[in-house]
Amino acid sequence: MNEPIVVIVGRPNVGKSTLFNRLTKSSASIVDDSAGVTRDRIYGDVEWNGKHFRLIDTGGYVPDSEDLFETAIREQVEIALEEADAVLFVVDGKSGLTPLDREIANMLRKSTKPYYLLVNKADNPSLESIKYDFYSLGMENLFDISALNGRNLGDFLDDLEAHLKFPDEKNLSDTRLRLSIIGKPNVGKSSLVNALLGYDRSIVTNIPGTTRDSIDSVLKYYGEEIILVDTAGLRRKTKVKENIEFFANVRTYRALWDSDVTILMLDAELGVEKQDQRIIQEAVRRRKGLIIAINKWDLIEKDTNTAKKYEDAVYAKIKTVDYAPIITISALTKQRIYKLIDLAKKVNEERKKKITTSKLNDVLLVEIQNSPPPATPTGKEVKIKYITQVGDHYPIFIFFANEHKYIPEHYKRFLERLIRRHFGFEGVPMTLTFKEK
Ligand code: GDP
Ligand code: GDP
Repeated sequence: MNEPIVVIVGRPNVGKSTLFNRLTKSSASIVDDSAGVTRDRIYGDVEWNGKHFRLIDTGGYVPDSEDLFETAIREQVEIALEEADAVLFVVDGKSGLTPLDREIANMLRKSTKPYYLLVNKADNPSLESIKYDFYSLGMENLFDISALNGRNLGDFLDDLEAHLKFPDEKNLSDTRLRLSIIGKPNVGKSSLVNALLGYDRSIVTNIPGTTRDSIDSVLKYYGEEIILVDTAGLRRKTKVKENIEFFANVRTYRALWDSDVTILMLDAELGVEKQDQRIIQEAVRRRKGLIIAINKWDLIEKDTNTAKKYEDAVYAKIKTVDYAPIITISALTKQRIYKLIDLAKKVNEERKKKITTSKLNDVLLVEIQNSPPPATPTGKEVKIKYITQVGDHYPIFIFFANEHKYIPEHYKRFLERLIRRHFGFEGVPMTLTFKEK
């Protein structure tokens, strides 16, 4: 189990995105008076009393058509109730109760998941009364809040945290490789999972009553068990096309967060698109092992250079993540699908690899002496004296140096490339930190 996921639902303009921004303390999500603005960041991390959960905003998934938006929101609530660990239903206290609000409330009341009714835009105590209108919804977990200035959010968060389940140590002791297969709809994820397992997973998971707990598949591979994370969520029917993306995102991020190594699948004919870049960024941010699998390779007319050309095109788009291995596969003909699993195992090993301090220093300090970091603005020499690797789950390198705050980004990238050149770490994002000796 991973950090719990909380989803914000509600009509447009009630303040979902404002709430999202305040809770995640980011301003990356666009707040706009016009409904239907597509946002880049729809998920974020929230920390409260030292505990963490993930927050997802549905606000970016509003269809253009007026006729569809009510259906879209109903469907979002359904998806949220299935996928999330808690649902935050935001209403606009200033504009009052609407029929759609009533419907959503009815849906939530039937659920066994924790949910909250947040009556927003109650910016000061004198506006507290705007919540009375909403008492008729019969929901107990009602808070009047202000997403804009934070009023009452502390009380609400205390309550929410008390109702969420956080990961325990037991889950952390399972050492089997957890692999997620991620990619846009139709790239071939289900086909790959089915090819690996030797049966159609969707038939199994369509059995009524299949629960969230059984959504991972176990791949037996030469006596070893590999967990294919969240394979049940590969498909879901949605009426509104925007919700295909919403659903896919919830599922995608959950699977990514819950895995050690992520396989990002691309369609050979489409290449890297914006959504793929977001996945790559998230995999790097979470320090997951990353492999890029170009699928549907059977459809490509090939000569001797074709694979290289495709790889170069992908690397050109993912720039700094050039350490992620690329492999061309076909889920249909099963070409190289086991090579892909071998690669995932290797990346997982690399992720856990430890280089001894003496080896690190022997190799790197000589290189650093030959190409030292630039001096400080006042002409002081910046000296890296000592390097050590820490971290159990992914590599963290600590560089001890004087005046380290003057070490420029490009030099840090140089150091990272140096480590990779000498020690590998293929497919593994790494952390470089700098400390005063
Ligand atoms: P969304 O469409 O539900 O994501 O709504 P937004 O977060 O984009 O907010 C819609 C409008 O309501 C914006 O103009 C916000 O500034 C405003 N708004 C959001 N929260 C509050 C609040 O707590 N108080 C007041 N007065 N305005 C708010
Ligand atoms: P998902 O939405 O990512 O799970 O994609 P699916 O596995 O459902 O595949 C979408 C479509 O692409 C289906 O019609 C598959 O048969 C087809 N497909 C999947 N993998 C391959 C492949 O390697 N080659 C070809 N030619 N078609 C594929």
